[in-house]
Amino acid sequence: MSPVKVIICGAKGRMGRTLIACAQGDPELQVVAEIDQGDDLVKVISRADAIVDFSVREATATVAKLAAKHKKALVIGTTGHGDQEKKVVLDVLKAIPVVWSANFSTGVNTLFWLTQKAAEIVGNEWEAEVVETHHTAKKDAPSGTAKRLQEILKHVRGKDAPAHALRIGDVVGDHTVIFGTPGERLELTHRAASRESFARGALRAAKWAVKQKPGLYDMQDVLGLR
Ligand code: NAD
Repeated sequence: MSPVKVIICGAKGRMGRTLIACAQGDPELQVVAEIDQGDDLVKVISRADAIVDFSVREATATVAKLAAKHKKALVIGTTGHGDQEKKVVLDVLKAIPVVWSANFSTGVNTLFWLTQKAAEIVGNEWEAEVVETHHTAKKDAPSGTAKRLQEILKHVRGKDAPAHALRIGDVVGDHTVIFGTPGERLELTHRAASRESFARGALRAAKWAVKQKPGLYDMQDVLGLR
């Protein structure tokens, strides 16, 4: 079978470099172009089956419109989008498959699942809060992953759960959900030690996306966790 051809957007960044390194070791993938700030995606887009975007939130809308116009599958790892930026992406879903996830690691997607189950079990009498820690260069706070954990908690509990963001040193990404009630506490923690877990998940999502019908998917769909 011929490899899935991908374009990496945000190629010079921390995630972009990791994605390229991981893809190079995968015979099922071929990186056909590396795009960063100032490069023209239009010139290379016809070479690809899928675009993997880990750049900046301001770039995602343009990438999404081009992917839809040229009927290319899209994987979005970039975080921190506002409502207007999200709307542009949601508008392209009728044309192409989009896998959009705040976190592509298998462990974090397991944390999402466990958080839902724990919230259902302990019930609304317990308090629930989210704590996340990242490196000092991270632009958005709280992280997209922390916001997703808040959404899961709100969906189950019907009320907001606070999130606390710490920016320290070179931490790749730690997330803890703390449930508490007088007399006991339950903590669910995921710690990412390298960016490879995100990169491998996003590349797995790209291979999966090219076989899907147009629509919005996330890593839970890719992993079959629904
Ligand atoms: P980074 O700052 O190291 O890299 C971003 C890159 O995007 C830079 O090289 C920058 O030059 C480039 N860029 C800027 N404007 C661009 C444009 N218009 N077109 C193309 N490229 C452009 O950041 P990072 O740590 O690699 O993270 C990138 C994004 O991925 C962030 O939003 C981060 O929160 C997110 N992220 C998501 C996951 C996940 O699993 N979903 C995991 C880690 C990081």
